[in-house]
Amino acid sequence: MKGVLIILDGLGDLPVKQLNGKTPLEAAKTPNLDFLANRSEMGYMYPVKPGFIPESDEAIVSIFANDLISSTRGQLEAKGAGFKLIRGDLAIRANFATIDNTKNGNIIDRRAGRTLTTAEAEILAKDINNKIKLSNDFVFKPTIQHRGVLVIKGGLSDNISSNDVNFYEQGKLREAKKTNLCKPLDEEENSQYTSNILNEFLQQAFEILDKHPINEERRRKGLMPANYLLLRGFGIEIPKLKIYKKWGSLAYMPLEIGFSKLCGMETETFEYPKLKDIDVYKNLYEGLDKMCNLSIKFLKKNNKKIDYVYLHIKEIDVPGHDNKPFEKKEMMEYVDKTLFKFLRKFAPPNEIKIVVTGDHSTPCKLKSHSADPVPVLFFHKDTLPHENKFSERTAVKGSLGKIEGKDLLKKVGFVR
Ligand code: ZN
Ligand code: ZN
Repeated sequence: MKGVLIILDGLGDLPVKQLNGKTPLEAAKTPNLDFLANRSEMGYMYPVKPGFIPESDEAIVSIFANDLISSTRGQLEAKGAGFKLIRGDLAIRANFATIDNTKNGNIIDRRAGRTLTTAEAEILAKDINNKIKLSNDFVFKPTIQHRGVLVIKGGLSDNISSNDVNFYEQGKLREAKKTNLCKPLDEEENSQYTSNILNEFLQQAFEILDKHPINEERRRKGLMPANYLLLRGFGIEIPKLKIYKKWGSLAYMPLEIGFSKLCGMETETFEYPKLKDIDVYKNLYEGLDKMCNLSIKFLKKNNKKIDYVYLHIKEIDVPGHDNKPFEKKEMMEYVDKTLFKFLRKFAPPNEIKIVVTGDHSTPCKLKSHSADPVPVLFFHKDTLPHENKFSERTAVKGSLGKIEGKDLLKKVGFVR
C-alpha cells in the first residue's frame, strides 16, 4: 500500500461560541491525529473552486480530478443502492420530508426530523411502490435513514428543476420555504412530459404518505410525519468518471458506493446499522463505529493488494447540519481513538502516505455546507517531526498552501 485518503464529510467549520471560539476540530482531543499532524504538511483546499458551495457528490467528483461538476447524483446513488440502470432510466436522490400540505407546500423539515426508522421507511416505500399508478414503471428504494432513491424507467429527460427547497445548485445555496413543482428546464417535449410524471408521482406520494397509519402513529407520538418526498440530482446518463485502478474503497453510503464502483475501485461495502428508534445520533455512532473498525480490517487485509485506499466517513457532516458542535467534536474524537490510532502504525520508516481532509465545510452555525476551504493534512515519511495541530487555522498557514480539489491527488503524489 502506498497511500490512504480519508475524507471526513463536512469536516471544515468556523469558530463556535459554545467551544470558546474554537472549531470542533480544534476543540477535539485527538492525540493520534496530533501525532500524524506532527509529521505532516498542511494546506487548505477548495474542493471544487473558491466561492463554490459543494454538494458531497460534486466535491468527490472534483477531488478525483474529473472535469464535470455535475455527477447527476441520482445515477451514483442508484448504482450504490444496487439498481441496474440502462440509458434513459431517470435516477433521482430522494429524501423523506415533512410538509404541511401540497396546496401551499410549506416545508417543516427536509428530513422528517431525522427520526424515520428503517422499518417505517420500508413500509412507506412498499406502499409507494404498490399504490402509485404512473404511465411509466418506477421503483422507489429507501436507503439509509431518511434517504432513498427513485428510478423511473423509459427514456425520460433529466433537465428538470428539483422540488427541493434547500440545496446547492451550481455552487450556490438555494433556499425556499415552500416546495416547488418540478419544472422543465428546456423547451423539449420530453422534459415537459417528465415534469408531469414527476409531479403526478409527488402528488400521489403525498396522498398515500400523509394519511398513512405510520404517519398517524408518528403524529400521535409528537413526531414529524414523513409525508412528502424531496427529489434532486436527476440523471439519465451514467457519469463518465476517471478510472482509478489499484484503488480500494470501503463504502456504505449509496453515493460513495456508486462513485467508487464507477471509478473502477475495488469496492467493499457493509450494511448500515438500522435506525431502530428516534435517536438518530445513536444510529450515527453505531455507523461510525462500524466504519472505523471495518476500515482498520480493510487496511490490514489489503495492505499488499491495493496501492491506494479511499475511506469516506459520512457521519461528521450531520452535526454540522444540526448545529451540534459538541457532537461534531465527539465524532472527531471517536475517529481519533479508533482509525487514527491504527494509522499511527504507518509512521516512518513505513512509507505509506496519509491524506486527511473534508469534502466541504459544514459549519455548525450555518447549519449548511459553505464555500469555506477545508483543511488538508498530508502525512509522509519525508516530513521532519515538528509541532503542529491539525485545524482550519493551522492549515491555512501550511506549506502545501492553497489547493483546488482537482489538483489534490497530484499534489500528494497519489496520481501522476
Ligand atoms: Zn459531504
Ligand atoms: Zn451535508
